[in-house]
Amino acid sequence: MTKIIGLTGGIGSGKTTIANHLKALGIPVYNSDEQAKKILYLPETIKSLKSVFGNGIFSNNLLDKEKLSKLVFNYPIQLKLLNQIIHPKVKIDFDKWLFANKNATLVIKESAILFESGSYKDCDAIISISAPQELRIQRVIDRDHATYEEVMSKINNQWTDDMRNKKSDYVIDNQDIEIACAQTEKIITILLNY
Ligand code: ATP
Repeated sequence: MTKIIGLTGGIGSGKTTIANHLKALGIPVYNSDEQAKKILYLPETIKSLKSVFGNGIFSNNLLDKEKLSKLVFNYPIQLKLLNQIIHPKVKIDFDKWLFANKNATLVIKESAILFESGSYKDCDAIISISAPQELRIQRVIDRDHATYEEVMSKINNQWTDDMRNKKSDYVIDNQDIEIACAQTEKIITILLNY
């Protein structure tokens, strides 16, 4: 049976950076956040979104992601409704991807909201990427040209490093990339042999 390893961490912690390192080692990686964004635009998703949220999330008949984000950001009930549409579709998409990778000893399921979404329950082990908050904020400011306040509001909507780390089997400290990659390889060796 293929082992499913969850890879999580807050915004700017370096999930995608570590995931890319794992891909380079030949390990299949499923990026849940990226797939969820694609699923958002599928015709059947659009249909469900329209029936739940109405026409206010469309501009010129096209889904306006910014309008949708504003509608759910800081509104837990609306966010729950959105998640009820998207999360089951991501699960189906992941299961298909897993089947296509059924010969792999282990695969990585990357998600910023692995715990928040409940998808950690399907994982055999969980790795969290951790880095000091100020460093994460600076990385995202540099990467996305975002403001400090924009990054902080996203951080405030996610679990803290502390909460994630406590529920994880392994924690990678991603301050220095060389050290973080070495730690990653060590963990993967353990997981492959156990
Ligand atoms: P998000 O949740 O926003 O998708 P993420 O956790 O996937 O973020 P990355 O995109 O991997 O984070 O990293 C954020 C930024 O920080 C990127 O520009 C990346 O190149 C940089 N970065 C990641 N790790 C390090 C590191 N150890 N040293 C320097 N820069 C790093």
